[in-house]
Amino acid sequence: MTTCPHCKSDCVQLRHKGRKAASTVGGLAGAVGGIASAMSGLQSGPTYGPNGGTLGAMLGALAGVLVGGIVGGGVGSALGGKAGDALDEGLFDQYECTSCGRTFTP
Ligand SMILES: [Zn+2]
Repeated sequence: MTTCPHCKSDCVQLRHKGRKAASTVGGLAGAVGGIASAMSGLQSGPTYGPNGGTLGAMLGALAGVLVGGIVGGGVGSALGGKAGDALDEGLFDQYECTSCGRTFTP
């Protein structure tokens, strides 16, 4: 059991500060990238569609944006979380004491 080196309380919790930040940034970057690739698909889409169907192209673009954003966001968030874990281990204090509010690395 990890205890606080400042007040000896065992009411400590992992912070994951870097992980949360990197996960958020990664998710945003992934979503933006997914949507951007869907938009570029929209521009070239009508040339592939039957009769150059505008409705089909719009639906396809909408699905592309949704899927691109969700998948890209999920992948980016997962990758960011992994990178953030490394940051947490190296850069940030890993634990926060809920009794005295101070942070520390065991
Ligand atoms: Zn403490």
